[in-house]
Amino acid sequence: MKVVVDLTRCQGYAQCAFAAPDVFTIQGDEALLYDPAPDDAQREKIVRAAAACPVQAIALERYDRFGREEVRRPHQPPEAVAHAAAVSPEEAFKRNGRIVIVGASLAGLQAGRTLRRDGFTGSLTVIGDEPYPPYDRPPLSKQVLIGQASARATALPRRDEIDAHWRLGVPATGLDLRGKHVLLADGQTVGFDRLLIATGLRARPWPNEAEARLDGMFTVRTPDDVEGLRQALTAGPGRVLVIGAGFTGCEVASACRELDLAVTVVDRGPAPLTGALGAVIGGVAAEMMRGHGVDLRCGVQVAALEGDGDGRLRRARLSDGSTLDVDVAVAALGSIRNVEWLEGSGLAAGVWGVGCDAGCRAFDLNGVVTDDVFVAGDVARSPHPVYGYQFLALEHWGNAVAQAEIAAHNMISAQSERWPHLALPEFWSTQFGTEIKSVGVPTYADHVVIAQGSVVERRFVAVYGYRGRITAAVAFNQAKWLEFYERLIDRAAPFPPSFRTVDEPADRRPVAAEVPDGPTPQATVVVTGHRPSERRATLVRKTYL
Ligand SMILES: Cc1cc2nc3c(=O)[nH]c(=O)nc-3n(C[C@H](O)[C@H](O)[C@H](O)COP(=O)(O)OP(=O)(O)OC[C@H]3O[C@@H](n4cnc5c(N)ncnc54)[C@H](O)[C@@H]3O)c2cc1C
Ligand code: SF4
Repeated sequence: MKVVVDLTRCQGYAQCAFAAPDVFTIQGDEALLYDPAPDDAQREKIVRAAAACPVQAIALERYDRFGREEVRRPHQPPEAVAHAAAVSPEEAFKRNGRIVIVGASLAGLQAGRTLRRDGFTGSLTVIGDEPYPPYDRPPLSKQVLIGQASARATALPRRDEIDAHWRLGVPATGLDLRGKHVLLADGQTVGFDRLLIATGLRARPWPNEAEARLDGMFTVRTPDDVEGLRQALTAGPGRVLVIGAGFTGCEVASACRELDLAVTVVDRGPAPLTGALGAVIGGVAAEMMRGHGVDLRCGVQVAALEGDGDGRLRRARLSDGSTLDVDVAVAALGSIRNVEWLEGSGLAAGVWGVGCDAGCRAFDLNGVVTDDVFVAGDVARSPHPVYGYQFLALEHWGNAVAQAEIAAHNMISAQSERWPHLALPEFWSTQFGTEIKSVGVPTYADHVVIAQGSVVERRFVAVYGYRGRITAAVAFNQAKWLEFYERLIDRAAPFPPSFRTVDEPADRRPVAAEVPDGPTPQATVVVTGHRPSERRATLVRKTYL
């Protein structure tokens, strides 16, 4: 059977590990790892775990949380088009329209499920260039690398199996907006009335092509990448080099240490995770890595990689003049957005992703919204009112799910019933037995303060502020508090926090956040409402200095 846990929601209470210990395990205080494809014999225990989860974060294929097998309702063909003449254009579209989704992964699948759940009975085509059905990526750099799950076992549960025409293993190569069709690499075209772009990202390769081809070089994005890397790690290399200390690089280093392999992490920034969390909390991550035996070198770059006569990676030369003997290297250099197929389409698609409004409608090159083309997931870039209407491109699991739901809803709703995508960004990472979670945008900050817990014990909440209001919170092994801070961010609550907190540290003085590029002064809004249908932003007249 298939299992997926929404780790954005999970608060590490461990009831699942108690109910089904062979499937769910807790590392350290609250870092949850699980088997995404457990044996059917575990079904009863897993169903009990899903029912016990206080935040309902566990989704199972084919079974609801009470263990009842879900009945697959076959898609009812729409009534005759003549019938639709009596209904509104939106209702007629909902019954008989043609929707195409390009990108058959997390956002694409979630959008398809939402469309069917919300009553879209027209034709639905999902186009994906990978040969596999939609799968989950987060376990690839965690459970799969340490051997707790196989790279082929992370398929996403398609619980309410959507009735769609799946075109897998064939890339979209072009988009004709006027003719309203998508061009495929096999020469075929697929017509649409409305289109969802969900083509995500790919890993940025090592820039020197000859060096990137050396045997022993890897990136981490797909099951094939990770299967190769897993095999290389299992062969017991003398030393692994990780180039880049973002979340992926740190997770790979963590897996190496778990496998008792020597690992060096090289990053040109002042500390790991600086691009995402700033250098102050990055410094905490640096101590954590070194404490777990990682040879961490910051402020340094890899100048060259060298192979032997057989094309096997052997050595790395660093910008500080030092050399390292390495057998395996992982380029964890960030990502490239999959937008090439949109070239010439007239959409605002480029290195920044595909620009869209907060209702997920794509912009054309002039910055004018289109009404029939929508965008969701890692490839999207949309303005967020809470962050001064800055365009955010988020590479987060939770954002792909939330944005896909909003896009799908808006694709089949009348203009007046469309929703804005106002969910706050949320992210988690499991590394070195620690669960790191964030809500908000930590780099949208000028100061940071440890509001709860202890940095020394790696159990704390850091709260970020910008011009006197709270903009983000990052928790190390303290996920249960983030919901509280999420509400404060929505309300534009004052920073530094003046309220008393549980487990308050003696020193609660804010320090400079040391984020790479600080924001510029912007308007402030508050957001109200919990459900996507209710969330609305209101401008605050108060000036934050
Ligand atoms: C190793 C790893 C670990 C991660 N860990 C975490 C984590 O711990 N926490 C977290 O919040 N997030 C994590 N993420 C990020 C998360 O997985 C992504 O945010 C999520 O996968 C985004 O989904 P998506 O559907 O938008 O894009 P993608 O998953 O990138 O899917 C896009 C799909 O479109 C396909 N495609 C591209 N171009 C074309 C084309 N021209 N025609 C047809 N198909 C095309 C792609 O091949 C792909 O299948 C991790 C990602 C990776 C790679
Ligand atoms: S919150 Fe749910 S998924 Fe997370 S550890 Fe607890 S029971 Fe498991």
